[in-house]
Amino acid sequence: MEDNPLSMYLEQIEQLVVLQKVDDEIIVLEQELENLPKELADLESQNDDFDHRLELLADKLDILKTQQKRLNDEVEDNASKIKKSKSKLMMAENTREYHAMMREMDNMEKLNRTREEERIALTEELERQKDLSAEVEAQAKELKETLETYKTSIKKRTAAAKKRLTILGKQRDKACSVVPKPVLGRYEFIRARISNPVIVSVIDGVCSGCHILIPPQIFNDLQKGEQIISCPNCQRLSYWCEHFSGEEKAFTSEGKAREAAELKSAEAAEAAEDIEDVAIDDSGDK
Ligand SMILES: [Zn+2]
Repeated sequence: MEDNPLSMYLEQIEQLVVLQKVDDEIIVLEQELENLPKELADLESQNDDFDHRLELLADKLDILKTQQKRLNDEVEDNASKIKKSKSKLMMAENTREYHAMMREMDNMEKLNRTREEERIALTEELERQKDLSAEVEAQAKELKETLETYKTSIKKRTAAAKKRLTILGKQRDKACSVVPKPVLGRYEFIRARISNPVIVSVIDGVCSGCHILIPPQIFNDLQKGEQIISCPNCQRLSYWCEHFSGEEKAFTSEGKAREAAELKSAEAAEAAEDIEDVAIDDSGDK
């Protein structure tokens, strides 16, 4: 079987597909590790905004309360002045003085009615601001709870992602070690330049990486399975999907099963090691 060129070709493709699967998962985890602190920063910035809004609202409430107190004092003061004037009215010595005192009292009463209206408007505004503060406070409280939950989960998620990446790193080394150097070189070359994935299937003559039809001559070569062919459009390494279905699948399944079993046992052993590693890392962090 080793002498069969198609068998060797398919084995290389399979090894690359294994490598691709490992890389797919690594990309997702690395993205997660990159996003977690960003999401945390976003929540913290929202929290700061709330704190700032609450500060402004508290300042506004203080100002309104001061105004309210001043108006209350003024209304009270005027009322007692009016009361005094009324009692003085009896002591007016002549009509002229009496009218003068009446006018003064009228003015004071008019002023107090205006102040009273102002006081009503101010009380309404104060209530409105209090309601708004309560609403913002409730939202801020909810966000703070979300933030705390996130802070707890980010540690766990980061540790889990890092642990999984360590395992994947070892799986990657292992997968790389079985791919022939020139083939691995092509894989890495493409990986560094083109967005994931690196190796793609060709279904009904269409590259599943760029969804463009492969020219017939190249598709013929791909079906022969003699050498690894790149998609002429997107440059990704390609393989014919039919090589991995039906009879062809059975033809390679032995090697695949062996490889899977090896990876699995290695993963279990590494996982045990990594749990220890993470435990040590965790204690170091604190
Ligand atoms: Zn393509």
